[in-house]
Amino acid sequence: MKKFKEIFVDFDDTLTESLKSFSDVYNTRYTKDVDWKKIKAWDCRDQCPELLEGELLDIFSCEQFFKNLRVKPFAKEVLESLFYTYNIPTTIISIGTYENCAKKSKYIKSHFPFVSKTILIASNKKNKLPMDKSFINMQGGIFIDDVEKNLMSSNAKKKVLFESVANTDWNENWRGDRIKNWEELYKYFS
Ligand SMILES: [Mg+2]
Repeated sequence: MKKFKEIFVDFDDTLTESLKSFSDVYNTRYTKDVDWKKIKAWDCRDQCPELLEGELLDIFSCEQFFKNLRVKPFAKEVLESLFYTYNIPTTIISIGTYENCAKKSKYIKSHFPFVSKTILIASNKKNKLPMDKSFINMQGGIFIDDVEKNLMSSNAKKKVLFESVANTDWNENWRGDRIKNWEELYKYFS
């Protein structure tokens, strides 16, 4: 059954294990043992106090980050099967620095070849990137993102929070639906 005409999906910590890859780089740089599942603050300073000004975004743009970066379990398989079974296309929407977006587009091309459209919002901010995807018309679609701000401002028909870590300062105020793994997405199409 085709309940939604399009699937809109965030990249970092929705499609990929970005916080884990970030922590791996940080741990190597500072000889630490940070567990990414304990990070609850948007700037990661609760677990990574050594971070220098601008370093968080630098790590998200570095070679090692993309080399370590894993796709979340079943993310590819679920989206691929919805595309081939119901003909519902996926659009990836992500915000990053110019360097991050450049590497991200290569990563998406090689890991998600069935995705025909990606919207990358590049910003030259050095610290906190603006979280706003509301100018993208998601009418009639389902939108999955790990950041509540992105969901709250969207006009998608259905909005679902992807929860990688519970009770963080970027998801604790979301009162709508949550999924914790990609296989849960099937319930919206059955
Ligand atoms: Mg994200």
